[in-house]
Formats: sequence, C-alpha cells, structure tokens
Amino acid sequence: MSRPLYQVADVLERNEESLSAYTGNTWQLRTLHALRKCRTAALGGHIDRCDNGQCRQLQLSYNSCRNRHCPQCQGHKREAWIRARGSELLNVPYFHVVFTLPDTLNQLCLHAPKTVYTILFGTAWGVLRDFGADPKFLGADMGMVAILHTWGQNLSLHPHLHCIVPGGGITANGKWKYARNKGKYLFPVKAMSKVFRARFVESLRKEFDRPRSFYDKLFAKDWVVYAKRPFASPQYVVEYLGRYTHKIAISNHRITSLADGRVSFTAKDYRKGGAVQLLGLSDAEFIRRFGLHILPKGFVRIRHYGILSSSRKKMVLPLLMAEMGRCTPEEKPPPILHRRCPRCKEGTLVTVFMFDGRGPPEHWMVKLENQNRNTPNKTA
Ligand SMILES: [Zn+2]
Ligand SMILES: [Zn+2]
Ligand SMILES: [Zn+2]
Repeated sequence: MSRPLYQVADVLERNEESLSAYTGNTWQLRTLHALRKCRTAALGGHIDRCDNGQCRQLQLSYNSCRNRHCPQCQGHKREAWIRARGSELLNVPYFHVVFTLPDTLNQLCLHAPKTVYTILFGTAWGVLRDFGADPKFLGADMGMVAILHTWGQNLSLHPHLHCIVPGGGITANGKWKYARNKGKYLFPVKAMSKVFRARFVESLRKEFDRPRSFYDKLFAKDWVVYAKRPFASPQYVVEYLGRYTHKIAISNHRITSLADGRVSFTAKDYRKGGAVQLLGLSDAEFIRRFGLHILPKGFVRIRHYGILSSSRKKMVLPLLMAEMGRCTPEEKPPPILHRRCPRCKEGTLVTVFMFDGRGPPEHWMVKLENQNRNTPNKTA
C-alpha cells in the first residue's frame, strides 16, 4: 500500500512537546505518543532479506504500534475480522440501523465515556431485541453486530452506533422467521426512536445524579434512529462491515495539507448529499478533536448480540445455514504482498534480524548503507 502523503503521526510529531496540553487525560496522551512513534526507529524493527539467490536484497522496517486508534495499523486486523464474519453470513436480508446520541449529551460522553457508551450499546440492543420479540412486529429472537463510532466528518464528537441486523429471527420452534415483507422491512423507526430515548434516559438517571432540567432537556428533542433498507446481497454486508468496523476518526488519506501549522482534510457533507468539502484546523484543534475519539482503555467497540453473540452463534448458525443454505462470500486469499521483495518482485522477504529502540548494530547498518550505495534507490 502506498504511504499517504500526509499522516496524523506527522502532526503529532511536530507537536510532540505540546501534546499534553492538547489532550484530556494521561491515557489519551499515551495513545497519541504511541501513534506518533508508529513505524519509526523508536519502536525498534527488523531487517529482512530476499530469499531469491540472485537478489538477496536487504530491507529495513520499523515496527508498527498496533494501537487500535492508529491510522497506520488498521489494514491487517480488518482483513482478518472481515474473513471471520464472512464465514458467518446468513442467507437473509440484512439491515443497517444507526442509533445516534443528541449533542446535548456530549459533555457527559467526555466526562464518563465508559458508562455512557455502555448504556448506548445496551439500550440499542434492548430496543431491537424487544421489537423483535413482540409478535406485533416479528415474534422472534434476533441478533446484531454493533460498532461504536464517536466522530462526525469534521472530527467533532458525534457518538453513534452502527448496527448490522439480520432481517428476522428464530422462533420458539427453532425456525427462521423473516421480518415483514420477506425481510424487506424491519420496524417503524419513529416508534424505535421513542423507545430508545425513553430507555436511554432512564438508564442515565440511574447512573448520574443530575438536576431534573438536564433530563427534561433530553426529551425536548427527537432522537434519531435510522434504518436503511436491506443490503443488495448478504455478500455486500461483509464489504460494508469492513468499511465501518476498523474505521477510525480520520484516515491519513483524507489529509490534503500540513502547511503553516494547520491541518487541511476532506470531509463529506451529508446534508449536501455527501458533497466533499475541505476543512482546515490549527494543529492544536486537530489534535484536541482527534483525542476525543480515543476510547477508554480496554473498551470494546465492536459487540455481538443475541443469536450472533459468541456464546450462541456456535449452536445457532450451523442450524440456520442448514435450513436456508450457506452464503459464503467469494474467498479472497489473505494478502501476503507485504512479504514480496520490492526489488526483484519474485523472492519473499525473510526476517534475518530484529532490533529494539536502540536500532540495529553497526555492522548491519554498514551492510544496508553499502547496498543502498550500490543499488539506486528505487522503491516499489
Ligand atoms: Zn500504528
Ligand atoms: Zn459512523
Ligand atoms: Zn528480491
């Protein structure tokens, strides 16, 4: 994959001294420093050698931070996750349901992210589960995969939950029952929104001691639940999931300039049909906003519920697949291209030496320097 022109890590690096002033807590600060050091000498690395006897090219690589908030460290994890979910696809229509929190809750989200986001997951699942269990709407046991996003396109706080929901469920006699219209219609969103709001606020009241006016204000607005029609085919669900699951607040490819101590990046304006606009922020504001989306340590942001939960799917999925047929997406071979030698493009890179933050020993550096002097530096 080509290195993007500009990176979040570049912004962090040039503000190394000020990061603590731009972030809310030490966990965020630690994360920002990890991202700043990603794929630099500070994290150590390894030397690979091409196994093609004609080539024997040496290549130096620095380790990546593997932090889940890092724009440089998403690709491999995403591929593995998508492959696993692809093997679990049911041959039924899937819906995309999004639960969004009103911005009146932003301060609370920043103050107690773990509690508020946990309530968001629990409430969303409760609403879907109970609408599903209601014979008026479906009368079956449902499942969902939910993914927490906390950002809007301009990087400000905008917490919402993407839920991928099979359009139906299992009835008491163990058979699949489609949602209305052969699974093409889920539940009325207006009704879902009202129940979502009522239950969410009820849970907040139990957790936080706030004045009554605070809760009243939450009822002054309609809360948005959005349900998109089924995906064209279950195969498409996996591709779609991939786009959402391992997404982070901003990808490096969106950054268009880092000139003059400012960060310019593209953003889609969904009120204008997704038109692309260019936004500019000072470094300080960019880092502050990026930090808002660093989740509490260990907080799980992708969760599986109901018949798709890890405890139930092992039992349920094989039965459903036997009943309705399998739906296996086209098998893509795992990407191994990053081990291909960039010079001869035939050999495979084999790691011959690993080193820590102090760097490789002198004699390896000499070997690398000699090689680079003798071969004009053509990077693939
Ligand atoms: Zn990284
Ligand atoms: Zn989102
Ligand atoms: Zn080679």
